[in-house]
Amino acid sequence: MDPRVAYFSMEIALDPALPTYSGGLGVLAGDTLLSAADLGLPMVGVTLLYRRGYFRQQLDSSGSQKELPEDWRPEDLLTPVDPQVTVEIEGRDVLVRAWRWQIQGIGGHIVPVYFLDTDLEQNPPWDRRLTDTLYGGDDRYRLCQEVVLGIGGVRLLAALGYSSIETFHMNEGHAALLSIALVEQRLAGKPLSAATRDDLDALRRRCIFTTHTPVPAGHDQFPRELAERVLGPARSAALERAGRFHDGLLNMTNLAIHASHYINGVGMRHGEISRGMFPNYPVRAITNGVHAVRWTSPPFAALFDRHIPEWRRDNLYLRYAVGIEHEEIAAAHAVAKAALIEEIREHSGVSLDPSVFTIGFARRATGYKRPELLLTDLERLRSIAMRVGPLQVVYSGKAHPLDSSGREAIRHVFQAAGCLAGSVPIVYVENYDLHRARFLTSGVDLWLNTPQRPQEASGTSGMKAALNGVPSLSILDGWWVEGHIEGVTGWSIGHDENGPGDPAAEAASLYEKLESVIVPMFYGRPDAFRAVMVSAIAFNGSFFNTQRMLRQYAQNAYGIEC
Ligand SMILES: *Cc1c(COP(=O)(O)O)cnc(C)c1O
Repeated sequence: MDPRVAYFSMEIALDPALPTYSGGLGVLAGDTLLSAADLGLPMVGVTLLYRRGYFRQQLDSSGSQKELPEDWRPEDLLTPVDPQVTVEIEGRDVLVRAWRWQIQGIGGHIVPVYFLDTDLEQNPPWDRRLTDTLYGGDDRYRLCQEVVLGIGGVRLLAALGYSSIETFHMNEGHAALLSIALVEQRLAGKPLSAATRDDLDALRRRCIFTTHTPVPAGHDQFPRELAERVLGPARSAALERAGRFHDGLLNMTNLAIHASHYINGVGMRHGEISRGMFPNYPVRAITNGVHAVRWTSPPFAALFDRHIPEWRRDNLYLRYAVGIEHEEIAAAHAVAKAALIEEIREHSGVSLDPSVFTIGFARRATGYKRPELLLTDLERLRSIAMRVGPLQVVYSGKAHPLDSSGREAIRHVFQAAGCLAGSVPIVYVENYDLHRARFLTSGVDLWLNTPQRPQEASGTSGMKAALNGVPSLSILDGWWVEGHIEGVTGWSIGHDENGPGDPAAEAASLYEKLESVIVPMFYGRPDAFRAVMVSAIAFNGSFFNTQRMLRQYAQNAYGIEC
């Protein structure tokens, strides 16, 4: 079946051996394409190659982060494809080629993913480095990368002979320049200035856009002079005529929205917030998910295979986890927890205690995720561990090299770990990636999430935890607004209110829940705790998966039956 949907993403996390992602956006893209293969959806993925990866994180004894290149050999893992295309960047013709990875779905359907690469001898040295690092370099580097992704991607798909693509799905605004390439393609050699209203309507019928950023400052934008220099006079004049420059800036979210007939946020709350940000556009919402099979740990996969064997093909069957004996759930979790503890012992040399209540916090280290909220009052944490029951905490996460608040947050955790040594063991696992995420989200007893409202568009790591019977304790933001049933699927921090929360009140609520509800239940009423574990799987595992998500995209946005 020829692909009908092309999915463009700046990052895609497909396999632990391919370091072509930085965090949740890339993992979502990978999970989406894995589910497309399972569902037999006619889809193709497009991203950049990143020969030097994102980076490998090294932390010294004070938690200062050092970034090492994550060199890998595409030649060993991907298949080069023949056609090469050129894109004009700063007036130069830059040659682009691609490498293919094939995802085979559960029924044998194949979804190809193309990794675009400019490291060709014919290109000048600076252009050869364009597809080296993800989110590296300055504005100029980023915009040039977005030309390669958007314009290079459309041209490459055409050169590969994909002639039946009806829908171009932009996963976040980085791919928005594909709109220019599609108009140029339709004009077949006529200048962009000849584009009519019909051409723009035709473009909109072909594009859909998913936004992931609930704060205006998070949107990708470039100064007009830079856009003119990189894109050239014809394209920047066309953008100017279309009214795409605002306050001297080219905003990629704005460009993507304007080019699309279907626009969505990644959770119900995020949809509402996005409608407030873009009041003139019909912004819908499809809540994110995770690929259930990839994120279910081996002991839980074996358990589901025994009791609800259909779960791999149809994730809705996870609803029937309610019928699984609590003892079996507890036994599977003990195996996942032992595997995490062993992984940590091997890599960090720290031995955690399998009988101790273990809290997990892992995601990109950045200001709004607030890894330090749990560490607001160390005396209080120590006292909960002394009086109610012992605690240990596992942290992990990389900070973007230029994100000083993220780097500082990691040092803060190290400092607190020093203060709490001997009473609450805290370990920071280096170099968070797909592999570590599998261990962490399945092996802890509680998944903690403390974003500053309303900055978490969705969040997905709590969904991974839910599939493994690990309940969340989280701020009511992103997916947790929908996934949370108090005391049933997990617990909330604070209340569901509008506007940013008060950090002191949120920290107080966090300690209160741990002290009065969760830790006493874990140690004193283990069967009640296991009932929460089961409900996390049955309610949230069955719904917050990319199979359900992609069926919603197919029905609402792609117009494809599946
Ligand atoms: C799932 C995942 C994330 C996203 O975590 P959030 O808590 O949703 O931000 C980031 N990094 C990796 C490696 C992941 O697997």
